[in-house]
Amino acid sequence: MQQAIARLTQRLPPDRVRQDAAFNAAFESDGLTAFHQKPLAVVIPESTEEVIATVRWCHDEAIPFVARGSGTSLSGGSLPVADGIVIALNRLNKILDLDPVNRTAVVEPGVVNIKVTEAASKDGLYFAPDPSSQTVCTIGGNVAFNSGGAHCLKYGMTSNHVIGIKAVLGNGDVVGWGSPSTDAIGADFPGLFTGSEGLFGIATEITLRLLPKPETFHTVLVGYRSLQAAGDAVSAVIESGLLPGAMEIMDALSIEAAEAAVKCGYPKGCAAVLIVELEGPRERVEYETQQLADVIARTDPYAQHVATTLAERLSIWKGRKCVFSAVGHISPDFLVQDGVVPRNRLGEALVRIQEISRDVGIRVANVFHAGDGNLHPMILYDGNVPGEFDKAEEVCSRIIKVCIEMGGSITGEHGVGMEKREFLPDMFDPATVELFHRIRRAFDPLEIANRGKMFPGADAPSLSMSGLHPLEKAGVISRE
Ligand SMILES: Cc1cc2nc3c(=O)[nH]c(=O)nc-3n(C[C@H](O)[C@H](O)[C@H](O)COP(=O)(O)OP(=O)(O)OC[C@H]3O[C@@H](n4cnc5c(N)ncnc54)[C@H](O)[C@@H]3O)c2cc1C
Repeated sequence: MQQAIARLTQRLPPDRVRQDAAFNAAFESDGLTAFHQKPLAVVIPESTEEVIATVRWCHDEAIPFVARGSGTSLSGGSLPVADGIVIALNRLNKILDLDPVNRTAVVEPGVVNIKVTEAASKDGLYFAPDPSSQTVCTIGGNVAFNSGGAHCLKYGMTSNHVIGIKAVLGNGDVVGWGSPSTDAIGADFPGLFTGSEGLFGIATEITLRLLPKPETFHTVLVGYRSLQAAGDAVSAVIESGLLPGAMEIMDALSIEAAEAAVKCGYPKGCAAVLIVELEGPRERVEYETQQLADVIARTDPYAQHVATTLAERLSIWKGRKCVFSAVGHISPDFLVQDGVVPRNRLGEALVRIQEISRDVGIRVANVFHAGDGNLHPMILYDGNVPGEFDKAEEVCSRIIKVCIEMGGSITGEHGVGMEKREFLPDMFDPATVELFHRIRRAFDPLEIANRGKMFPGADAPSLSMSGLHPLEKAGVISRE
């Protein structure tokens, strides 16, 4: 192996390849913090050419690699393999072009999500996909996981905002797909690459669609007597023809945690709150405000609060955005799950989760992007109590099975990664899984790009999330 590394250092400037344990410790784990793996080396390229040289070396030497953005994956997506290298892309962090007329941005993969919006805002534009980790996660990571966020209900996931990708594939080929004109020829290759979890190769340049910033917002917080009523209200809003910018639900336990952490002043005594935010041109929002009020009145609300100032709007969102970091106020440990159900079955799914929670004897706090049926149940446990972790894991897997049974998905936005790959065959028939394999091999015949992820039966057990990401502990980001 060391001879192979020596050959790599001939292809790159010497300081790009790191094997010192102290430096590499930061790359042994991602947001799935319970699990660590030492890589063979960490490579830190400073140009696209260096990424290409590194991947070609991996292919020539049959050495596996994992691309890494900021390492905030919650499913072990950027966890290294023991005999492989990490290619850390943070130094490829330039916005190469920002075109306000065409409303596009061309970026390197290590650009942090929020930086795109910051750069575009002077032209009244922004990048819509807004994971809660948006102040740290990279566009490369967003593309690999087809990441989402509160506003993806209205604007779609990352895949709806990627119109071009240049990439170096696992076989060392360099490709360029898509076109800034948005009228591309042939199959939707940027779409295929988006969500491929780093299994095809490394995106080196990404062309993003930008949107005009909404003129105004209307934010409503509605309390309900039951979680099911809140879930059913989501269906009622969508059925009415409205398409809010965001619709989020928090249950009583999540509210308790948020109140303890940030005193957000949500209505007392309700079983769940629904946050609905309309956004867009002023006249349209004003018109929809009345429509929304009528729909909500029919959903038997327990309490209601309409934000009349920016401070009130931010206070409502503060409660929602802090939940994951606030859970420490009510539980020493937690696992977070990321499943999806069809949104018209949301109320039913929440009842099933409550039943599982009671049955196993472990509390579950629910907070989620209700508008797109994306659940993020937090399974609360105490790691010091023997057997509690196992019970929490049981709850996690039973919830995922419920999502599959209801016609949903094993991941909404956090990827399959290492964590959920054992569930892949529960969702797809063998022919489909084999097709995934064949597509992957077309890009990467040696299967060196992010080896061991997404497909079941590889070399390590499935993993689960445990504990807060260090950045959550520091209050920099919160999980959705
Ligand atoms: C507190 C917290 C909150 C979060 N909230 C959300 C949320 O609201 N919505 C959401 O969707 N996710 C959320 N996440 C998950 C995570 O932030 C996202 O999945 C994010 O897109 C990962 O970006 P990253 O730069 O950290 O990627 P990494 O974790 O470094 O990598 C993620 C995956 O992308 C691959 N990859 C990275 N760069 C490239 C590239 N250039 N080419 C090919 N593959 C690449 C990696 O190999 C890996 O498989 C959250 C995570 C945390 C810790």
